Amino acid sequence: MNLPIYLDHHATTPVDPEVLETMLPALRGEFGNPASQSHPFGWRAQEIVDEARRTVAAFIGARSASEIIFTSGTTESNNLALKGCLEALRLKTAHVITQTTEHKSVLEPCRYLETKGFQVTYLDVDSTGRVDPGALERAIRPETAILSIMLANNEIGTLQPVEEIGRIAKKREIFFHVDAAQAAGKIPIDVNQMGIDLLSFSAHKMYGPKGVGVLYARSERPRVKLAPLFHGGGHEKGIRSGTLNVPAIAGLAKACEIAGRSMDEENRRVKSLRDRLEKALLAGLGDAFVNGHPQHRLAGNLNISFLYIEPEALMAALQQDLAVSASSACSSGIPEASYVMKALGIDGQRTHTALRFGIGRFNTAEEIDYAAERVIDAVKKLRKLSGLAPGS
Ligand SMILES: *Cc1c(COP(=O)(O)O)cnc(C)c1O
Repeated sequence: MNLPIYLDHHATTPVDPEVLETMLPALRGEFGNPASQSHPFGWRAQEIVDEARRTVAAFIGARSASEIIFTSGTTESNNLALKGCLEALRLKTAHVITQTTEHKSVLEPCRYLETKGFQVTYLDVDSTGRVDPGALERAIRPETAILSIMLANNEIGTLQPVEEIGRIAKKREIFFHVDAAQAAGKIPIDVNQMGIDLLSFSAHKMYGPKGVGVLYARSERPRVKLAPLFHGGGHEKGIRSGTLNVPAIAGLAKACEIAGRSMDEENRRVKSLRDRLEKALLAGLGDAFVNGHPQHRLAGNLNISFLYIEPEALMAALQQDLAVSASSACSSGIPEASYVMKALGIDGQRTHTALRFGIGRFNTAEEIDYAAERVIDAVKKLRKLSGLAPGS
């Protein structure tokens, strides 16, 4: 067993060895620029990109490879989807609906759009992190142009009823954007079945390289028009100028192919490890509460609050052994609950004592058992030290 054990797969994932093997030729001999159409170096690069585009399109059930735009990742894709779509509509004012627990790369573009005169509704979620499709439908106005709801949350792993929201979007003729950064490779995605018009994801959350991602934009019924964020050489049909990152794009496609063939088996295995960890922690410690939705949750997510503990102190005690993450930010020494935890509306202790475990492809049962043991030991010690816990 190698220490520290990586249990932070919501932040990023290691590159799968098969992905790396796919990328190497495009970094060595096949290094051409797909925009160089006057020699075989460019032609070969173009072939690699074309094939990757077809693989990615098939992975999300897109009808045409031309609906795939390669970007630098979900942050860029979310910005392009929201700002690019509204700018292309050429409306002076329009309304956007999203929810309070979206990633910052959706919330911040929304805030920006508000400064430009657009109106944004931020829907509340319930105590498990789910948005109510009925409330969403009631929030629709005549001037609503786009809905943006994530598939899976990055802190609590909660899955949103995307298919139901997709039906509402279709019925009311509003564009539907989905941030699938945490879901891609873990939840089967079919943009047609789910009624999705715009979909964002990153390779590095699904065992691919960093700095590459996708924006799917539906080309008919309805056709989504996008204004570019960057102006330049007119790559990606003028929507995303800049020389394509060919090795990363090849790696992204391979990551999609692997996920496509191994998702079911992997989900079962990762879920059994997650359940094993959850069971061990709840059996070994009192005053521990699992956050998120009991069923509608990513298989690898375990977000758990250990009352009477500062998550920063716990992480510090564990950092030689376990790589995990807290759902809080410690500014000026006072732990501040994350906005996602606050949005759940659960009681104070629980919101700022949350720790996030993200289990992934290469974790083993041995690692999970060791992690559980270390966490239980550290929580007990810290509770004794703090003297805050009843009976300590
Ligand atoms: C990681 C993440 C992002 C941002 O992805 P980048 O690759 O850093 O641009 C956006 N949304 C969600 C839900 C994420 O988990």
